[in-house]
Amino acid sequence: MSESNFGDASEEQVSGAAVLARALKAQDVQYMFGIVGIPVTEIAIAAQQLGIRYVGMRNEQAACYAASAVGYLTGRPGVCLVVSGPGLVHALGGMANANMNCWPLIVIGGSSERCQETMGAFQEFPQVEACRLYSKFSVRPSSIEAIPSIIEKAVRSSIYGRPGACYIDIPADFVNLQVNVNSIKYVECCMPPPISMAETSAVQMAASVIRNAKRPLLIIGKGAAYAHAEEGIRKLVEQCKLPFLPTPMGKGVIPDNHPNCVAAARSRALQFADVIVLFGARLNWILHFGLPPRYQPDVKFIQIDICAEELGNNVRPAVTLLGDINAVTKQELASKKSLPMNYYTVFYHVQEQLPRDCMVVSEGANTMDIGRTVLQNYLPRHRLDAGTFGTMGVGLGFAIAAAIVAKDRNPGQRVICVEGDSAFGFSGMEVETICRYNLPIVLLVVNNNGIYQGIDTDSWKEMLKFGDATALAPPMCLLPNAHYEQVMAAFGGSGYFVQTREELQESLRKSLADTTKPSLINIMIEPQSMRKAQDFHWLTRSNM
Ligand code: ADP
Ligand code: MG
Repeated sequence: MSESNFGDASEEQVSGAAVLARALKAQDVQYMFGIVGIPVTEIAIAAQQLGIRYVGMRNEQAACYAASAVGYLTGRPGVCLVVSGPGLVHALGGMANANMNCWPLIVIGGSSERCQETMGAFQEFPQVEACRLYSKFSVRPSSIEAIPSIIEKAVRSSIYGRPGACYIDIPADFVNLQVNVNSIKYVECCMPPPISMAETSAVQMAASVIRNAKRPLLIIGKGAAYAHAEEGIRKLVEQCKLPFLPTPMGKGVIPDNHPNCVAAARSRALQFADVIVLFGARLNWILHFGLPPRYQPDVKFIQIDICAEELGNNVRPAVTLLGDINAVTKQELASKKSLPMNYYTVFYHVQEQLPRDCMVVSEGANTMDIGRTVLQNYLPRHRLDAGTFGTMGVGLGFAIAAAIVAKDRNPGQRVICVEGDSAFGFSGMEVETICRYNLPIVLLVVNNNGIYQGIDTDSWKEMLKFGDATALAPPMCLLPNAHYEQVMAAFGGSGYFVQTREELQESLRKSLADTTKPSLINIMIEPQSMRKAQDFHWLTRSNM
């Protein structure tokens, strides 16, 4: 501090109203709504002078609604400024509404002079007590000097944890009281709310419950809107192909016209879901308390909320994720990435890159069935599969024919051959034929280590400890982790072994870009991607 400041400033006085205004400004409060009168007019003037926008309203209730909507829309609380007694009472409706909505709000109420308390002062009313029921924090600063830290605490409380309303009572005698400027210490703007993340084990459990769901449903509430979680939730919906239902104010987090939006069949969606993920929505009357007959009695709820006390209300959840929705959604997306792929993830990424006019050849059991539902055809005679006779082993022959016909009649057209690992085995040596004639076919082997399903390497090894494979290996098993891509590499084509989404995307991009030679992408998926019960004891053992 400079010397001149020291000298003159010690005499300089500042009013309570000015201190309050500056404290609000320091906390980055930008909007104030209210109705002026004794004793708060000076507060409105001081705030406006500091650049806080002031909107004069006609009823305190409406002013409070307005201030709370600013809080929801901007993530920083608006202020509602009201006079003592009836002014404050009128504001209670707005405070209650904000607090029930979990929206940040600061209400500042003028109140009667401290020296007349209990004497029947003008508009005397127990305002701090009255507000307690409608707020997270309700207080009167003990002095003008205390105002900056109280304002900081109120703003911070309004946005930290579950957002809500905070009340600050300003006695009339504070407003014009002059204090020495040097006695006031302004408090730096509070930090943005800390971002809390859910427990890793809960994140993984949630991913597994969603993965095993037959009829999952995502409910998107206004908590998700407030959290700005739109990008992550959209990714989750699209990557996992999850249907979603917005609550009234959850609408628009993902556009209503998104193909996965089931709002038109709300009752059915709620009633038949077996797993419901709640993104910032409470199981209150709006969602029929999460109870039958509107829901399955055994529906599994996965609850994501920033408020621990909310978790478990009305229904016992299968998984609780305590944390910020935006952060938790990212955790879920990350955990999904580290999990092995399943058929749906594979075909989702394949579909993304397939040229519209490509020839799709497909065979296998699950590979062909699930592929048929996800991979799109836009043109006739552009799909060849196991056909009327349900023949396995047709794929490579069909692909070779398609590639030769394409070369003659449709130059540039790509041939994609999507094979299960078992189906590939029936004619795998035709890869040599493909390479000999240099047909730029893209061969995808969706590898689950078996026919219908297989087992993983560790279980295979565990099994061999109990005896010979001919005695113990489930008949549908093939050698786990077989490197089929090396068959292609052996004859000069490009071979890729992929285990993650990124590797799949990258190898597909390269294969489709290369028209000079064939490629084979060996795509490892979860061996029991389609599997429910565990029939073999070593599988159960190794999973323990
Ligand atoms: P709706 O009316 O849309 O169903 P609710 O108001 O019932 O939504 O629920 C909103 C929920 O969102 C509240 O329980 C609140 O605690 C929670 N919430 C608010 N902000 C966040 C956030 N950033 N992260 C997680 N949960 C949040
Ligand atoms: Mg298979």
